[in-house]
Amino acid sequence: MSTLEIRDLQVSVKLPEGELKPILAGVNLTVRAGETHALMGPNGSGKSTLAYSIAGHPKYQITGGSVLLDGVDVLSMTVDERARAGLFLAMQYPVEVPGVSVANFLRTAKTAIDGEAPKLRTWAGELRAAMERLHMDPAFAQRNVNEGFSGGEKKRHEIMQLELLKPKVAVLDETDSGLDIDALRVVSEGVNRVRATGETGLLLITHYTRILRYIKPDFVHVFVAGRIVEEGGPELAEKLEAEGYERYLAGAGPAA
Ligand code: ADP
Ligand code: MG
Ligand code: MG
Repeated sequence: MSTLEIRDLQVSVKLPEGELKPILAGVNLTVRAGETHALMGPNGSGKSTLAYSIAGHPKYQITGGSVLLDGVDVLSMTVDERARAGLFLAMQYPVEVPGVSVANFLRTAKTAIDGEAPKLRTWAGELRAAMERLHMDPAFAQRNVNEGFSGGEKKRHEIMQLELLKPKVAVLDETDSGLDIDALRVVSEGVNRVRATGETGLLLITHYTRILRYIKPDFVHVFVAGRIVEEGGPELAEKLEAEGYERYLAGAGPAA
């Protein structure tokens, strides 16, 4: 069973003038296969910075700490190597990939991760079944990745990747944002299917508690000003729903 270990992670963002602005101030978090973690915090607290740092985005500079997947240093891997090692990141703002269809994109990603192309026959069926489960039109497979996708289509596409690529650990950054209630339910069902396999560790990053009505996390971490300030079980999400982040912000300094 896989484990992602984030130890005292410190990260600065590279500003256009070349300066470094410290964002993550020592993050400690362990996500094991089969576990579902919710990382919740106010806007600007550094949640996406954490996700991008794990994924290897060049704009973020690691200034301290470590990230290990099954004991192997993730931070020294290229972005591709991280994906092949079994890490998956669903971005808050997915990028368009003009000229590449959903079907081709998924097949290429699957091939890269598995080290061999999926069998053509079974793969087409798997793709179709995944789309059906997410209530997507089969024609969607021929569209270019994220080009003109609605918010809901982008998120469904991410969950489709998650289901087909079967990562060891997945980080979902605000997968709930911009979804109407039906899309939220469909996307949550997809996440719950992945969860039920027991083979993927899930880190759900979210600002709002509403997705947690559909996906019950095993652990909740409150994230403020670049670090985890409180941890608990699902009851902590309910407390946040009632009380908000206000009381954590006092003493955290000016909002970034
Ligand atoms: P969250 O996802 O919790 O809303 P972010 O990680 O997006 O927070 O941002 C954390 C802080 O880092 C914010 O103050 C944000 O403005 C800053 N930041 C993040 N990325 C950049 C960037 N590329 N350039 C400048 N500032 C950034
Ligand atoms: Mg934000
Ligand atoms: Mg964010």
